[in-house]
Amino acid sequence: MTQFSLAVHGGAGTILKKNLTPELEVQYHAGLRAALDAGHAVLAKGGSALDAVTAAVCALEDEPLFNAGRGAVFTSDGQQEMDAAIMDGTTRAAGAVGGIFGPRNPIRTARAVMDRTDHVMLIGPNALNVARAADLPFAEAEYFYTQARWDALQSTLKMRADGVEDDDPARRHGTVGAVARDMQGAVAAATSTGGMTAKAPGRVGDTPIIGAGTFADNETCAVSATGHGEVFIRYTAAAEIAARMRHAGQSLTDAAAHVVMHDLAPNDGSGGVIAVDAAGNITMPFNCDGMYRGMVTQDGAFKTFIYREEAVN
Ligand code: ASP
Repeated sequence: MTQFSLAVHGGAGTILKKNLTPELEVQYHAGLRAALDAGHAVLAKGGSALDAVTAAVCALEDEPLFNAGRGAVFTSDGQQEMDAAIMDGTTRAAGAVGGIFGPRNPIRTARAVMDRTDHVMLIGPNALNVARAADLPFAEAEYFYTQARWDALQSTLKMRADGVEDDDPARRHGTVGAVARDMQGAVAAATSTGGMTAKAPGRVGDTPIIGAGTFADNETCAVSATGHGEVFIRYTAAAEIAARMRHAGQSLTDAAAHVVMHDLAPNDGSGGVIAVDAAGNITMPFNCDGMYRGMVTQDGAFKTFIYREEAVN
């Protein structure tokens, strides 16, 4: 049996080789690898799955290439509003934040909600108060801003103004996440996002909704999703994977593939998930062109992937 395993994602969508330069490919692989390194360091010394997913997601939030923390996308009115959630598969404790701006690492604010309050989800000024009380670092707008995300907002707004229907939500999304199984057999999941480019102010996606974009339960699996959030919410994507394992006896791979390919794909739910079960098996299905993703187990073989052709499972 696997001692520990870790998987990360940096979002799924219209990710085509013809649109990425070799230099950018290298940077994406390095960003994923940094997250795997951060989580692996925790797990290899016997640390918890919860600490591993927190560390991995922080690394992805700090990397401006990914749509979370630094480099988050912009709302239709040019703001950044971030969602994040974390869940502990042992206790089913969970913490989440919606629509926040300021903390450098939204996932650590979600963790503070879990660790320091009686609630699962906080929004608005009091979510920020929890981050302040936990002494978490904040940053100014310049830290989070990237030209690429700003340009993506302008082109999306132009399409709207021209009356061009954006028929491919896969073009607009991105998110980061991690799932882990530790040496004690516990699983955990964490997900963080800026949401979808040009989303309405106040819109909250699937990421911070337990059972939609994030879920963990030692009896079944831990899941972190990325994709067209509204559909993931309506199909309770992450919880449905766990339910298929619990009630129908399906394997992690079969359950996750069914939800991604048969529930989400035909219903405008482009995207994918990463998931790990209590035995440490990992699956990373997606139904669009690519998903930034990677995995490592105790054998120390770090693997990172971008495109569909590279799919390993
Ligand atoms: N699921 C995220 C959201 O809808 C976006 C993404 O994963 O790309 O906010």
